Amino acid sequence: MSDLQERLHLIRDDNSDICGVIAIHSTALGPAAGGCRLWHYASDQNMIEDAVRLARGMSYKNALAGLPFGGGKAVLRKPDEPFDRTALFRLFGRSVEELQGEYITAEDVGTGISDMRTVRQQTYYVAGLEQHGGRAGGDPSPWTSLGVFEAMKIAARIRFGSDLKGLRVAVQGVGNVGAGLCRLLHRAGAKLIIADIDTEKAAALAEELGAHHLNVDEILRVDAEIFAPCALGAVLNEKTIPTLRVGLICGAANNQLATEADGEALMQRAISYAPDYVVNAGGIINVAAEYLGESDDQVENRVLQIGNRLARILQIAADEHTPPHVVADRMAQQIIAERRMAAAS
Ligand code: NAD
Repeated sequence: MSDLQERLHLIRDDNSDICGVIAIHSTALGPAAGGCRLWHYASDQNMIEDAVRLARGMSYKNALAGLPFGGGKAVLRKPDEPFDRTALFRLFGRSVEELQGEYITAEDVGTGISDMRTVRQQTYYVAGLEQHGGRAGGDPSPWTSLGVFEAMKIAARIRFGSDLKGLRVAVQGVGNVGAGLCRLLHRAGAKLIIADIDTEKAAALAEELGAHHLNVDEILRVDAEIFAPCALGAVLNEKTIPTLRVGLICGAANNQLATEADGEALMQRAISYAPDYVVNAGGIINVAAEYLGESDDQVENRVLQIGNRLARILQIAADEHTPPHVVADRMAQQIIAERRMAAAS
């Protein structure tokens, strides 16, 4: 099945040095949507590879979330401090404008609302700005937390035959999404075990919710029903997987599996894995709704569908004895391929 990159758009500064790239993986379902990351990269090659990998992830995430958007991602190399942030995001905004709506941007790791406001001075093809009235917009994190929570409810029902009440959930990272998820889990009666490199933040949340607070190494070895990675990518790898003592993994972090083989390793250990981009789609659902001028109610409807979509994936994975992330990728590829075929006929 074709999984080709459609286009790479290099962003160059006044000296013609490459300072960023916009990768468009697919526009079969609509304009390529995905955030803009500001990060340190050792080489142009690393930066381009990251953009390409992230753009493909966005295609799959958008397709499975039922959004009328393809997948793309922008990556900017973080210059040494101090640097002119406004000038960088103006340049980026002009690059987005040059693509004439083929790519729609928003914030991602290292960028925020104020950067998107700068981008907005150059182009309309941007979301992730402030919320107005009952229209969608603003911080996507609460929607991401809700989507992960809905996914976890369904996955727990499938894995343990119960609701979340009384289940022990180990949450790694209690930032914007992780803390929101913890509050939802607390209300549902789950027993929370939390860890964050910001120990003060974790301690405060533990006190608020009556959660058990561990250090960051212990959270990967704790005996619990569910592990919710809400901090870093590549947290599921050859070192951590043998130490896990949980039955289900369901969390917000992007790119949780370090390699494809790690998804297989989880299946061998009989640990159910809820594919990250299926469960953490709440944020992009909100960003997409903002761009389309939709309401918060429409966002909520879409976010509440995440659980059912995950249930289907887990069911197929169990029937075929295939890792769930493989099933999710295949479903997303099918949606994109069918649309391409329909457009070509
Ligand atoms: P955040 O920066 O607000 O929170 C991340 C938290 O993880 C921080 O509190 C940080 O101190 C902690 N952390 C970092 N390294 C850690 C470690 N080794 N062990 C324990 N804690 C650690 O980020 P966020 O917006 O809450 O996003 C969390 C994850 O979810 C990220 O991987 C992000 O890419 C992904 N995600 C977020 C959204 C969203 O709407 N914000 C949407 C989709 C995916």
